[in-house]
Amino acid sequence: MKKIVLLFLVSFAVLQIQAQDKITKTSPRIMILATGGTIAGSGESSTKSAYTAGKVPIDDLLNAVPQIHNYGKITGEQVASIGSQDMNVVTWLKLSNRINQIFKENLADAIVLTHGTDTQEETAYFLKLTVMYDKPVVIVGSMRPSTAMSQDGNRNLLDAVMVAASPRSQGKGVIVAMNEKIFDPRDVTKSSSTNLETFLSRNFGPIGLIYDGKVSYYYQSLRNSSKKFDVSKLTTLPQVEIVYGYADASPLTVTCLSNSPIKGLVYDGMGNGNFNEPVGKALAEASKKGILVCRSNRTGSGRTTLENEVDDAGLGFVVADDLSAQKARILLMLSLTETSDKIKIQQNFFEY
Ligand code: ASP
Repeated sequence: MKKIVLLFLVSFAVLQIQAQDKITKTSPRIMILATGGTIAGSGESSTKSAYTAGKVPIDDLLNAVPQIHNYGKITGEQVASIGSQDMNVVTWLKLSNRINQIFKENLADAIVLTHGTDTQEETAYFLKLTVMYDKPVVIVGSMRPSTAMSQDGNRNLLDAVMVAASPRSQGKGVIVAMNEKIFDPRDVTKSSSTNLETFLSRNFGPIGLIYDGKVSYYYQSLRNSSKKFDVSKLTTLPQVEIVYGYADASPLTVTCLSNSPIKGLVYDGMGNGNFNEPVGKALAEASKKGILVCRSNRTGSGRTTLENEVDDAGLGFVVADDLSAQKARILLMLSLTETSDKIKIQQNFFEY
Protein backbone atom coordinates (compact mmCIF):
# COMPACT_ATOMS: atom_id res chain seq x y z
CA MET A 1 0.00 0.00 0.00
CA LYS A 2 2.82 2.38 0.99
CA LYS A 3 4.50 1.66 -2.35
CA ILE A 4 1.34 2.58 -4.27
CA VAL A 5 1.00 5.88 -2.39
CA LEU A 6 4.68 6.63 -3.00
CA LEU A 7 4.33 5.81 -6.70
CA PHE A 8 1.27 8.06 -6.92
CA LEU A 9 3.11 10.95 -5.23
CA VAL A 10 6.16 10.60 -7.49
CA SER A 11 3.98 10.48 -10.65
CA PHE A 12 2.07 13.54 -9.46
CA ALA A 13 5.33 15.47 -8.90
CA VAL A 14 6.64 14.49 -12.36
CA LEU A 15 3.38 15.60 -13.97
CA GLN A 16 3.57 18.92 -12.12
CA ILE A 17 7.12 19.55 -13.40
CA GLN A 18 6.10 18.64 -16.95
CA ALA A 19 3.08 20.91 -16.74
CA GLN A 20 5.43 23.85 -16.15
CA ASP A 21 6.70 23.48 -19.71
CA LYS A 22 3.68 22.10 -21.48
CA ILE A 23 0.96 24.66 -21.96
CA THR A 24 -2.45 23.24 -22.80
CA LYS A 25 -5.58 24.67 -24.37
CA THR A 26 -7.11 25.18 -20.97
CA SER A 27 -4.38 27.70 -20.27
CA PRO A 28 -4.42 31.44 -19.93
CA ARG A 29 -6.68 34.03 -21.46
CA ILE A 30 -4.30 36.15 -23.51
CA MET A 31 -5.47 39.44 -24.92
CA ILE A 32 -3.50 40.83 -27.85
CA LEU A 33 -3.59 44.62 -28.02
CA ALA A 34 -2.45 45.97 -31.38
CA THR A 35 -1.01 49.41 -31.95
CA GLY A 36 0.48 49.11 -35.47
CA GLY A 37 4.17 49.21 -36.36
CA THR A 38 6.10 47.12 -38.87
CA ILE A 39 4.70 43.91 -37.38
CA ALA A 40 1.45 45.15 -38.93
CA GLY A 41 3.27 46.62 -41.93
CA SER A 42 2.58 45.90 -45.55
CA GLY A 43 4.78 46.51 -48.60
CA GLU A 44 4.40 46.22 -52.39
CA SER A 45 7.18 43.68 -52.83
CA SER A 46 8.59 40.79 -50.81
CA THR A 47 12.18 41.79 -51.58
CA LYS A 48 12.15 45.60 -51.32
CA SER A 49 12.30 47.35 -47.99
CA ALA A 50 9.66 50.08 -48.56
CA TYR A 51 6.40 49.53 -46.68
CA THR A 52 3.74 51.31 -44.65
CA ALA A 53 3.63 50.57 -40.91
CA GLY A 54 0.38 49.76 -39.10
CA LYS A 55 -1.67 48.67 -42.16
CA VAL A 56 -2.58 45.10 -41.20
CA PRO A 57 -5.53 44.85 -38.78
CA ILE A 58 -5.36 42.71 -35.64
CA ASP A 59 -7.59 39.90 -37.01
CA ASP A 60 -5.29 39.37 -40.02
CA LEU A 61 -2.27 39.40 -37.73
CA LEU A 62 -3.77 36.68 -35.56
CA ASN A 63 -5.00 34.59 -38.51
CA ALA A 64 -1.47 34.60 -39.94
CA VAL A 65 -0.19 32.71 -36.88
CA PRO A 66 -2.82 30.05 -36.05
CA GLN A 67 -0.31 28.30 -33.74
CA ILE A 68 -0.86 30.98 -31.10
CA HIS A 69 -4.19 29.33 -30.28
CA ASN A 70 -2.32 26.33 -28.89
CA TYR A 71 -1.08 28.44 -26.02
CA GLY A 72 -4.25 29.91 -24.59
CA LYS A 73 -7.57 31.54 -25.26
CA ILE A 74 -6.61 34.36 -27.60
CA THR A 75 -8.59 37.53 -28.20
CA GLY A 76 -7.54 40.67 -30.04
CA GLU A 77 -8.22 44.37 -29.75
CA GLN A 78 -7.04 47.21 -31.97
CA VAL A 79 -5.96 50.13 -29.77
CA ALA A 80 -4.16 52.17 -32.45
CA SER A 81 -2.87 51.75 -36.02
CA ILE A 82 0.24 53.85 -36.17
CA GLY A 83 3.92 53.66 -36.93
CA SER A 84 5.46 53.97 -33.48
CA GLN A 85 7.30 57.14 -34.55
CA ASP A 86 3.82 58.66 -34.02
CA MET A 87 3.41 57.23 -30.53
CA ASN A 88 2.42 59.96 -28.08
CA VAL A 89 1.49 60.70 -24.47
CA VAL A 90 -2.26 60.48 -25.15
CA THR A 91 -1.92 56.97 -26.61
CA TRP A 92 0.38 55.94 -23.74
CA LEU A 93 -2.26 57.05 -21.23
CA LYS A 94 -4.96 55.23 -23.19
CA LEU A 95 -2.88 52.04 -23.30
CA SER A 96 -1.98 52.16 -19.64
CA ASN A 97 -5.58 52.77 -18.58
CA ARG A 98 -6.86 49.99 -20.83
CA ILE A 99 -4.32 47.47 -19.49
CA ASN A 100 -5.11 48.41 -15.88
CA GLN A 101 -8.82 48.03 -16.63
CA ILE A 102 -8.33 44.60 -18.29
CA PHE A 103 -6.54 43.26 -15.23
CA LYS A 104 -8.82 44.99 -12.73
CA GLU A 105 -11.90 43.47 -14.37
CA ASN A 106 -10.09 40.14 -14.72
CA LEU A 107 -10.64 40.04 -18.50
CA ALA A 108 -7.27 38.40 -19.22
CA ASP A 109 -4.44 36.58 -17.49
CA ALA A 110 -1.78 38.10 -19.72
CA ILE A 111 -1.46 40.68 -22.48
CA VAL A 112 0.63 40.79 -25.64
CA LEU A 113 1.10 44.27 -27.07
CA THR A 114 2.12 44.53 -30.73
CA HIS A 115 4.07 47.72 -31.35
CA GLY A 116 6.46 49.39 -33.78
CA THR A 117 10.10 49.02 -32.86
CA ASP A 118 11.09 52.71 -33.12
CA THR A 119 9.65 53.69 -29.73
CA GLN A 120 8.93 50.23 -28.33
CA GLU A 121 11.41 50.78 -25.49
CA GLU A 122 9.72 54.04 -24.47
CA THR A 123 6.23 52.56 -24.39
CA ALA A 124 7.59 49.58 -22.46
CA TYR A 125 9.20 51.79 -19.80
CA PHE A 126 6.12 54.03 -19.55
CA LEU A 127 3.90 50.98 -19.02
CA LYS A 128 6.33 49.44 -16.53
CA LEU A 129 5.98 52.59 -14.44
CA THR A 130 2.20 52.95 -14.77
CA VAL A 131 0.61 49.47 -15.01
CA MET A 132 -0.44 48.56 -11.49
CA TYR A 133 -0.46 44.77 -11.92
CA ASP A 134 2.41 42.30 -12.21
CA LYS A 135 0.67 39.97 -14.67
CA PRO A 136 2.66 39.53 -17.90
CA VAL A 137 2.41 42.31 -20.48
CA VAL A 138 4.67 41.21 -23.34
CA ILE A 139 5.58 43.88 -25.88
CA VAL A 140 6.57 42.65 -29.31
CA GLY A 141 7.29 44.01 -32.79
CA SER A 142 9.20 43.11 -35.92
CA MET A 143 11.82 44.62 -38.17
CA ARG A 144 10.40 43.30 -41.45
CA PRO A 145 6.81 43.84 -42.61
CA SER A 146 4.43 40.91 -42.93
CA THR A 147 4.78 40.97 -46.74
CA ALA A 148 8.59 40.62 -46.73
CA MET A 149 10.52 37.47 -47.52
CA SER A 150 11.69 35.91 -44.22
CA GLN A 151 9.61 38.32 -42.22
CA ASP A 152 10.18 38.09 -38.47
CA GLY A 153 6.76 39.19 -37.19
CA ASN A 154 4.98 35.83 -37.14
CA ARG A 155 7.73 34.11 -35.18
CA ASN A 156 8.06 37.05 -32.81
CA LEU A 157 4.29 37.06 -32.21
CA LEU A 158 4.23 33.32 -31.51
CA ASP A 159 7.18 33.70 -29.12
CA ALA A 160 5.49 36.61 -27.35
CA VAL A 161 2.33 34.53 -26.84
CA MET A 162 4.45 31.68 -25.46
CA VAL A 163 6.12 34.11 -23.06
CA ALA A 164 2.74 35.49 -21.99
CA ALA A 165 1.39 31.97 -21.44
CA SER A 166 4.41 30.60 -19.61
CA PRO A 167 3.97 30.07 -15.85
CA ARG A 168 7.55 31.33 -15.58
CA SER A 169 6.40 34.80 -16.67
CA GLN A 170 4.05 35.14 -13.71
CA GLY A 171 4.93 38.23 -11.69
CA LYS A 172 7.21 39.66 -14.37
CA GLY A 173 4.87 42.54 -15.30
CA VAL A 174 5.83 44.49 -18.43
CA ILE A 175 8.59 42.88 -20.51
CA VAL A 176 9.82 43.06 -24.11
CA ALA A 177 10.16 39.91 -26.25
CA MET A 178 12.00 40.24 -29.56
CA ASN A 179 14.10 37.91 -31.68
CA GLU A 180 14.18 35.06 -29.14
CA LYS A 181 15.19 37.32 -26.25
CA ILE A 182 13.32 38.79 -23.29
CA PHE A 183 14.28 42.20 -21.88
CA ASP A 184 13.44 44.41 -18.94
CA PRO A 185 11.82 47.63 -20.30
CA ARG A 186 14.18 49.80 -18.27
CA ASP A 187 17.29 48.46 -19.95
CA VAL A 188 16.26 47.54 -23.48
CA THR A 189 17.07 49.67 -26.51
CA LYS A 190 16.78 49.50 -30.28
CA SER A 191 20.40 49.46 -31.41
CA SER A 192 20.22 49.16 -35.20
CA SER A 193 17.87 50.91 -37.61
CA THR A 194 17.88 47.98 -40.06
CA ASN A 195 19.14 44.71 -38.53
CA LEU A 196 16.83 41.99 -37.19
CA GLU A 197 19.08 41.61 -34.16
CA THR A 198 18.36 45.15 -33.05
CA PHE A 199 17.10 44.94 -29.47
CA LEU A 200 19.66 44.69 -26.72
CA SER A 201 20.42 45.84 -23.23
CA ARG A 202 23.92 47.29 -23.41
CA ASN A 203 24.50 47.49 -19.68
CA PHE A 204 22.93 44.27 -18.43
CA GLY A 205 21.87 41.90 -21.24
CA PRO A 206 18.53 40.11 -21.72
CA ILE A 207 16.70 38.70 -18.71
CA GLY A 208 15.55 35.60 -20.59
CA LEU A 209 15.58 33.57 -23.79
CA ILE A 210 12.93 31.89 -25.93
CA TYR A 211 13.91 28.85 -27.93
CA ASP A 212 11.83 26.10 -29.50
CA GLY A 213 8.81 26.96 -27.42
CA LYS A 214 10.76 27.06 -24.16
CA VAL A 215 10.86 30.23 -22.10
CA SER A 216 13.82 30.55 -19.75
CA TYR A 217 14.66 33.40 -17.39
CA TYR A 218 18.17 34.09 -16.13
CA TYR A 219 18.20 37.52 -14.47
CA GLN A 220 15.85 40.04 -12.91
CA SER A 221 16.30 43.78 -12.52
CA LEU A 222 16.56 44.83 -8.87
CA ARG A 223 15.27 48.32 -9.61
CA ASN A 224 12.12 49.05 -7.63
CA SER A 225 9.33 47.73 -9.81
CA SER A 226 6.66 48.08 -7.13
CA LYS A 227 6.64 51.88 -7.55
CA LYS A 228 3.80 52.87 -9.87
CA PHE A 229 2.66 56.27 -11.02
CA ASP A 230 -1.12 56.63 -11.04
CA VAL A 231 -2.03 58.17 -14.41
CA SER A 232 -5.70 57.18 -14.34
CA LYS A 233 -6.93 60.77 -13.95
CA LEU A 234 -4.45 62.43 -16.29
CA THR A 235 -5.12 63.63 -19.83
CA THR A 236 -1.59 64.86 -20.46
CA LEU A 237 1.87 64.93 -18.81
CA PRO A 238 4.17 67.83 -17.92
CA GLN A 239 6.12 68.76 -21.05
CA VAL A 240 9.75 67.64 -21.08
CA GLU A 241 12.07 68.11 -24.07
CA ILE A 242 15.46 66.61 -24.99
CA VAL A 243 18.52 68.51 -26.23
CA TYR A 244 21.48 66.70 -27.80
CA GLY A 245 25.08 67.59 -26.96
CA TYR A 246 27.94 67.80 -29.49
CA ALA A 247 31.23 69.62 -30.08
CA ASP A 248 30.83 73.35 -30.55
CA ALA A 249 27.06 73.24 -29.86
CA SER A 250 25.46 76.66 -29.60
CA PRO A 251 23.18 77.47 -26.64
CA LEU A 252 20.37 78.44 -29.02
CA THR A 253 18.15 75.37 -28.54
CA VAL A 254 18.37 75.50 -24.73
CA THR A 255 17.73 79.27 -24.71
CA CYS A 256 14.65 78.88 -26.96
CA LEU A 257 13.31 76.13 -24.73
CA SER A 258 13.98 78.22 -21.62
CA ASN A 259 11.55 80.77 -22.99
CA SER A 260 8.86 78.16 -23.62
CA PRO A 261 6.41 76.69 -21.09
CA ILE A 262 8.29 73.36 -20.71
CA LYS A 263 8.59 71.90 -17.21
CA GLY A 264 11.68 69.77 -17.72
CA LEU A 265 14.67 69.40 -20.00
CA VAL A 266 16.84 66.32 -20.52
CA TYR A 267 20.27 67.32 -21.77
CA ASP A 268 21.82 64.32 -23.56
CA GLY A 269 25.43 65.29 -23.13
CA MET A 270 28.82 64.15 -24.32
CA GLY A 271 30.76 61.57 -22.27
CA ASN A 272 29.40 61.62 -18.72
CA GLY A 273 26.62 64.03 -19.73
CA ASN A 274 29.00 66.95 -20.33
CA PHE A 275 28.33 70.26 -22.09
CA ASN A 276 30.48 73.13 -23.32
CA GLU A 277 30.54 76.48 -21.53
CA PRO A 278 27.86 78.37 -23.51
CA VAL A 279 25.40 75.44 -23.28
CA GLY A 280 26.22 75.09 -19.56
CA LYS A 281 25.32 78.73 -18.97
CA ALA A 282 22.04 78.33 -20.86
CA LEU A 283 21.19 75.19 -18.87
CA ALA A 284 21.94 77.04 -15.61
CA GLU A 285 19.57 79.83 -16.72
CA ALA A 286 16.86 77.28 -17.53
CA SER A 287 17.28 75.70 -14.10
CA LYS A 288 17.05 79.14 -12.41
CA LYS A 289 13.77 79.70 -14.24
CA GLY A 290 12.33 76.58 -12.62
CA ILE A 291 12.83 74.10 -15.47
CA LEU A 292 13.98 70.75 -14.07
CA VAL A 293 17.26 69.97 -15.87
CA CYS A 294 18.35 66.33 -16.03
CA ARG A 295 21.69 65.28 -17.53
CA SER A 296 21.91 62.00 -19.48
CA ASN A 297 24.60 60.91 -21.91
CA ARG A 298 24.69 60.11 -25.59
CA THR A 299 27.21 57.22 -25.41
CA GLY A 300 24.48 54.55 -25.29
CA SER A 301 25.77 52.75 -22.20
CA GLY A 302 27.24 53.34 -18.76
CA ARG A 303 25.91 55.86 -16.26
CA THR A 304 25.63 59.61 -15.97
CA THR A 305 27.03 60.30 -12.52
CA LEU A 306 26.57 63.20 -10.13
CA GLU A 307 29.29 65.80 -9.53
CA ASN A 308 31.84 64.31 -11.93
CA GLU A 309 32.90 67.29 -14.07
CA VAL A 310 29.72 69.21 -13.37
CA ASP A 311 28.67 71.04 -10.18
CA ASP A 312 25.19 69.48 -10.18
CA ALA A 313 24.34 70.63 -6.65
CA GLY A 314 25.38 74.21 -7.42
CA LEU A 315 23.52 74.32 -10.74
CA GLY A 316 20.44 72.48 -9.47
CA PHE A 317 20.69 69.63 -11.99
CA VAL A 318 19.77 65.98 -11.54
CA VAL A 319 21.32 63.01 -13.42
CA ALA A 320 19.66 60.15 -15.30
CA ASP A 321 21.95 57.42 -13.89
CA ASP A 322 21.96 54.65 -16.55
CA LEU A 323 18.75 55.71 -18.32
CA SER A 324 18.90 56.87 -21.94
CA ALA A 325 17.64 60.38 -22.67
CA GLN A 326 14.32 59.09 -24.05
CA LYS A 327 13.68 57.02 -20.92
CA ALA A 328 14.91 59.78 -18.60
CA ARG A 329 12.30 62.00 -20.25
CA ILE A 330 9.56 59.50 -19.36
CA LEU A 331 10.65 59.19 -15.73
CA LEU A 332 10.97 62.97 -15.47
CA MET A 333 7.48 63.57 -16.94
CA LEU A 334 5.97 61.04 -14.53
CA SER A 335 7.98 62.30 -11.55
CA LEU A 336 6.81 65.87 -12.24
CA THR A 337 3.19 64.70 -11.91
CA GLU A 338 3.96 64.01 -8.23
CA THR A 339 6.61 66.51 -7.17
CA SER A 340 9.01 69.23 -8.26
CA ASP A 341 11.37 68.50 -5.37
CA LYS A 342 14.78 67.92 -6.96
CA ILE A 343 16.03 65.64 -4.19
CA LYS A 344 12.98 63.40 -4.54
CA ILE A 345 13.28 63.39 -8.34
CA GLN A 346 16.99 62.52 -8.16
CA GLN A 347 16.06 59.66 -5.83
CA ASN A 348 13.57 58.41 -8.44
CA PHE A 349 16.40 58.21 -10.99
CA PHE A 350 18.44 56.09 -8.57
CA GLU A 351 15.54 53.80 -7.69
CA TYR A 352 13.16 53.25 -10.66
N1 ASP B 1 8.68 52.76 -38.01
C1 ASP B 1 8.26 51.48 -37.57
C2 ASP B 1 7.56 51.65 -36.24
O1 ASP B 1 8.19 51.91 -35.26
C3 ASP B 1 9.43 50.57 -37.46
C4 ASP B 1 9.18 49.21 -36.88
O2 ASP B 1 8.14 48.87 -36.37
O3 ASP B 1 10.13 48.39 -36.94
O4 ASP B 1 6.36 51.58 -36.19
